Amino acid sequence: MNTMSLCCVSCGANYPATLRYACDACGGILEVDRGAETGEAWAAGLVSPAVTLGEGWTPLLQARPGSLASGGGMLWFKDETRNPSGSFKDRLVSAALTTALAFGSKGLVCASSGNAGASAAAYAARAGIPAVILVPERTPTEKMAQIAAYGALLVKVEGHYSNSYAMALAVAQETGFVNVTTTFINPYGTDALRLVGHELHAQLGDSAPDWVVVPTGSGPLVKGVVQGFADKGGRLPKILAVQAEGCAPIVRAFEDNAAAVSAWGEPKTIASGISDPLIGYERDGTYTLDLVRRTGGKAVAVTDDQIRSAMRALAAGNGIFAEPTGASSLAAALKLIESGEIAAGERVVCMVTGHGFKDFGIYRQMPVHEIRVEAGAPASVITQALAGMGHSGGND
Ligand SMILES: *Cc1c(COP(=O)(O)O)cnc(C)c1O
Ligand SMILES: [Zn+2]
Repeated sequence: MNTMSLCCVSCGANYPATLRYACDACGGILEVDRGAETGEAWAAGLVSPAVTLGEGWTPLLQARPGSLASGGGMLWFKDETRNPSGSFKDRLVSAALTTALAFGSKGLVCASSGNAGASAAAYAARAGIPAVILVPERTPTEKMAQIAAYGALLVKVEGHYSNSYAMALAVAQETGFVNVTTTFINPYGTDALRLVGHELHAQLGDSAPDWVVVPTGSGPLVKGVVQGFADKGGRLPKILAVQAEGCAPIVRAFEDNAAAVSAWGEPKTIASGISDPLIGYERDGTYTLDLVRRTGGKAVAVTDDQIRSAMRALAAGNGIFAEPTGASSLAAALKLIESGEIAAGERVVCMVTGHGFKDFGIYRQMPVHEIRVEAGAPASVITQALAGMGHSGGND
């Protein structure tokens, strides 16, 4: 670890590796620079973090042929729902907390739209330290219940995510606790996301797909995928950054060909995990937009209805239970396959970033196959119900 330093992605300023959340000189995003330490030594530091619950190395599942309206033979799902707290945020929090404990932190603070908070609360419990989790007051109730279950102090902050974000900065200052908010604030956390690229590269037989579709808030996951593939050399996949139509600051800038991302107003979407208006840290969005452009990729918005139908295609068609944000990647992939912007035969990986258990309410409003029977009812009522679903229920 002794060759490690922090480097500003904007001005190149270098800092010793300590707890630091932005560049002193320009306010820019910091990233971990491991100097000459690359390859095996670098990976070893990441793969065996001191605070772990078994995150990472999630399955890559090919879409079931025929399960999607538009073919789908070349679609894969990277199932990040399988992480310990149910989202890919576990990868960042494990790394960020491992480093912070080495620096002597006695507790953690995290602003969250729900998933990062659940993750931070889980890993704090694992490490035996206090956690302060700040969420927008309208966060899905399942996510808040999960945070509270891990024993954290749950703070419901009035208004949208950016308010929670600002308060986390102040609380970290006041308490001296580490800030593990999973925007670009914690360079050790974002650094761990490179493993997503490494895993995909290995799972696809040491190659890159044509596209990786990434539900995008401020963009650390985009950065992780791009850097991970860059670490491996060779071709980069095109990044398709997905946002919801009701909160799409990066998509708006992409479509307007703008040089910079500007903040969004009030988010209106069921995709809580990417409901981030970027108020006060618009430059994070600009950085992510530049990365997307550099790969020759795109940024696209999807509607809540497109997300709902992707949730059904994932769950009922492929056995993967995702929260709305987690299914937004499939919604975007289908949209671009339909428009021809993703060409036939291109290989597409959809990041399924969060678990369906985190937002049950949306599923409760969807049509399901359900009947109620009297005790002792004849089994023929079931074969009739199956027939109604288009399945033959008889043993003929
Ligand atoms: C946080 C989150 C995202 C967005 O990730 P960023 O790296 O902040 O862009 C996507 N999906 C889910 C489920 C999330 O929790
Ligand atoms: Zn700088």
